[in-house]
Amino acid sequence: AKATGSNNICFYDKSMDQAARERSALAMDMRTGLQRGEFQLYFQKQNNTKSGEVIGFEVLLRWLHPRRGMVSPVEFIPIAERTGFIMELGDWVLRQACVEAVKWGNPLKIAVNVAPKQLANANFPQRVREILAETGLDPARLELEITESGIIVDQQHALLIIRQLKAIGVKIAMDDYGTGYSSLSTLQLFPFDKIKIDRGFIDNVADNRQSAAIVRSTLILAQSLDIPVLAEGVENAEHLRFLQDEGCEQVQGYFYGRPQPLSEIQDIVNPPPAA
Ligand code: C2E
Ligand code: CA
Ligand code: CA
Ligand code: CA
Repeated sequence: AKATGSNNICFYDKSMDQAARERSALAMDMRTGLQRGEFQLYFQKQNNTKSGEVIGFEVLLRWLHPRRGMVSPVEFIPIAERTGFIMELGDWVLRQACVEAVKWGNPLKIAVNVAPKQLANANFPQRVREILAETGLDPARLELEITESGIIVDQQHALLIIRQLKAIGVKIAMDDYGTGYSSLSTLQLFPFDKIKIDRGFIDNVADNRQSAAIVRSTLILAQSLDIPVLAEGVENAEHLRFLQDEGCEQVQGYFYGRPQPLSEIQDIVNPPPAA
């Protein structure tokens, strides 16, 4: 520990310093990484709970760093949000997702994550309109996933932007439902087209009464509000059965498939003509 000006003692933590250096190194690498094509879109199936049929894909960003290998978005997205680079990165993801999806023979939906800073930008709806016009993607195929943290700072502003987005014809999903602190009032105020129940609740739905109760009551609430629900993190047949029994319409998770590169979903997005 070293003494600072007053009586305060500042504990100098080597490992914290190391982590901070690491973060700023990643922040710098990100910019060049995007130019060098190190970022790649992965796609994870979303399935109809009853039929098992694929209804769309969530787009998940991956970064293949030349020295570090695969860096998780859990690591780099928060850094990109802090530095503001998420604006550029998020724009690239959205555009790239539309560029790819418009080529598919099967007009499946794509769900793209939108960071709080992107959503807060008054120009965001205009940017979405431009990307759709440039790429030619049908707006009805695009779903934007937003989290509660993206709408609680300035609810009225967020509501205005969401209305503009819906006027374009894109869909809005509430991501990570249940992890925020005011989910109920948020549902009342915002015109969501879908609710995605956070995977934290699905994980122990079979043996934890609280999680089961939260999932059940969310499904009942959503039904009465007439909003479809997708459950995230469906990893096994037990999870799926519970959700089928409770009337959850859509699922996403390792049970049906992990996020995959575009090359590995070709049989779904461009199915061979029937013989
Ligand atoms: P998210 O939006 O909640 O995405 C779902 C995460 O759950 C993904 O992690 C996915 O791979 C993982 N997952 C899916 N099914 C299962 C399952 O059955 N079990 C388990 N244990 N996990 C499952 P991933 O790809 O590592 O992404 C983490 C987070 O990073 C995302 O959480 C999202 O918040 C953020 N993210 C990823 N791509 C983007 C992006 O393009 N833009 C923004 N703003 N955020 C992104
Ligand atoms: Ca998401
Ligand atoms: Ca989620
Ligand atoms: Ca999440």
